[in-house]
Amino acid sequence: MRPSTALPTRFLSAHAVCELVRREGLDRTLAGIAQCIEEDFQRWPAFDKSARVASHSHDGVIELMPISDARRYSFKYVNGHPRNTTRGLPTVMAFGVLADVATGAPELVSELTLTTALRTAATSIVAARRLARPDSRVMAVIGNGAQSEFQALAFHHLLGIDTLRLFDVDPGTTAKLVRNLAGHHLNIVICTSAAEAVLGADIVTTLTADKTRATILHADMLAPGMHVNAVGGDCPGKTELAADVLRRSRVFVEYEPQTRIEGDLQQMPADFPVTELWRVLTGQAPGRVHPAEITLFDSVGFALEDFSALRFLQEAARRHGLGEPLDLIPQLPDPKNLFAALGEAAGPADCSTPAAPQPATRHAA
Ligand code: NAD
Repeated sequence: MRPSTALPTRFLSAHAVCELVRREGLDRTLAGIAQCIEEDFQRWPAFDKSARVASHSHDGVIELMPISDARRYSFKYVNGHPRNTTRGLPTVMAFGVLADVATGAPELVSELTLTTALRTAATSIVAARRLARPDSRVMAVIGNGAQSEFQALAFHHLLGIDTLRLFDVDPGTTAKLVRNLAGHHLNIVICTSAAEAVLGADIVTTLTADKTRATILHADMLAPGMHVNAVGGDCPGKTELAADVLRRSRVFVEYEPQTRIEGDLQQMPADFPVTELWRVLTGQAPGRVHPAEITLFDSVGFALEDFSALRFLQEAARRHGLGEPLDLIPQLPDPKNLFAALGEAAGPADCSTPAAPQPATRHAA
């Protein structure tokens, strides 16, 4: 008999991830995740990749995002429900798993709602380092909801942005962003329209949520040398940019087959030229080539970014002694004797316990 060797699965709660960010510091957490994303994108051919599997419904979408290399497998469960905030729920909620490919044992189960915001901002930074002008200091942030602080502070700490021009159709949400950014030494300009927000911006980040084809940015709002970090158009039928914005820009994507379905790219013909980010990171394709060109990162969120974030969390949690064992897989002295794990529950039914009520039988009239 071979004893079960499955390592106990570790669990990182939302509270544990907050504690991890507190101990690491937000800037170092973002930098650490960005570094893991860069390293993994540079190993692009080593990954078994697929577009995420989406289940669409009237009010939103639920998606599964799997990916693996020879050593590790991960998946994320994530939703996108733009009307959720009116019900007291976030638009985006997520959790995920990191598993050992050799055995299939799940090593880590983690919250990924906060982590999605961190990794999305970190991915935007990885792209902007190659695509934005190095002298960029002013960023417009259009859509000031849950993701916005993470993007604003990532660009401040890791790219040197010192001025933010903010717009949201809901002024209360912009006020929330301003409150959360207090003390971070950023110049903040509150704007009354998207057109006003982009004036003088070196980088334009769009972070809106609307389950519709919106046009937050029109081509006449672009200026030479701008970098557009388009994050909110990430689902079929949910876009943020006028098609002319893509025509005026050099467009970069995470994983082309997925972005053609989900990104602002969905509006363009199948042969519209794009460059995958990994090719820029490995030196196979140029990033920005001229100070006056307009670059566009059509971000939709790819499974590899969650894989990178999960492996960052796993390593950082170990270092800080965070997380707890999760009783997810039965620990078996004899791995072929799964039934024994039921213990007493495997015995004959206990007649002293009242039986669960049976559903009433329906008779045809
Ligand atoms: P959220 O609902 O918290 O915030 C969205 C904000 O957009 C709201 O405050 C809303 O008032 C505002 N808005 C809607 N229409 C607008 C318009 N026309 N002009 C200006 N503001 C407008 O959502 P969130 O969690 O911040 O996510 C923002 C978007 O980013 C969502 O669409 C989400 O699906 C997407 N997202 C993408 C990625 C990625 O990897 N690309 C990751 C996470 C979230």
